[in-house]
Amino acid sequence: MLKIKNLYVNIKNNLIIKGLNLRIKRNEIHVIMGPNGSGKSTLSYIISGKPKYRIDKGKIYFNKKLINNLSPYEISKLGIFLSFQYPIEINGITMYSFLKNILKNKYNNKELLKKIYKVCNKLKIKKNYLYRNFNVGFSGGEKKKNEILQMLLLKPKLVILDEIDSGLDIDTLNIIFKNINKYKNKNKCSLIIITHNTNIIKYIKPNYVHILYNGKIIKSSNKKIIKNIEKYGYKNIINNEIK
Ligand code: ADP
Ligand code: MG
Repeated sequence: MLKIKNLYVNIKNNLIIKGLNLRIKRNEIHVIMGPNGSGKSTLSYIISGKPKYRIDKGKIYFNKKLINNLSPYEISKLGIFLSFQYPIEINGITMYSFLKNILKNKYNNKELLKKIYKVCNKLKIKKNYLYRNFNVGFSGGEKKKNEILQMLLLKPKLVILDEIDSGLDIDTLNIIFKNINKYKNKNKCSLIIITHNTNIIKYIKPNYVHILYNGKIIKSSNKKIIKNIEKYGYKNIINNEIK
């Protein structure tokens, strides 16, 4: 479904991604971990087409289509969804009008409201939030729930979750992952989960765990590697790479 070949990404003349390869099939869960500043968020932005991020070299294919030069809108229409590490606040736009807009009049008002209410219930989001300015004054957990709300409404094929679990209380974590798992099992979508949380395997079952360091995936393994990271940190894995 997603194929990244020998990717090099440049931000303001700094090489951030340096020869990254990744292949993701349908219905797979890939966890990406790695020290701060390794390039995890950059990778998620570049897949989603963030403007001004320059691909120096390499190719990104989604369902065999080259997406290197597509706009975020075009990439999103193909079925790729990114949940931001730091969701932004938008003053002057209510959550409802935002959601209506991203769904591009797919439903009439009555249908849309019914759909949104249904998803709000699943995520335990109070309905009055729909009439508040988008994310403005929301708590960290409420912003993350809003990301999952958009995901469930847009029905993407590839979901990228950039630290969806950072700073969440245990109940919010449970609600969010229950909904992510349900969506994944029903739609057989693929997931890229970027996290620092070594407890992640309590919430999802990854097929692969990748360690991203200094702009490259230096190790791909299964969930067992997480125990190792919990015990020793990234030191061993990084040292083996440097050797
Ligand atoms: P991670 O998500 O793995 O913590 P990021 O992808 O956010 O790391 O960042 C990787 C590196 O790229 C960091 O050193 C960061 O400072 C740098 N970087 C990211 N965005 C920019 C930018 N807009 N301008 C300059 N440097 C950037
Ligand atoms: Mg990040």
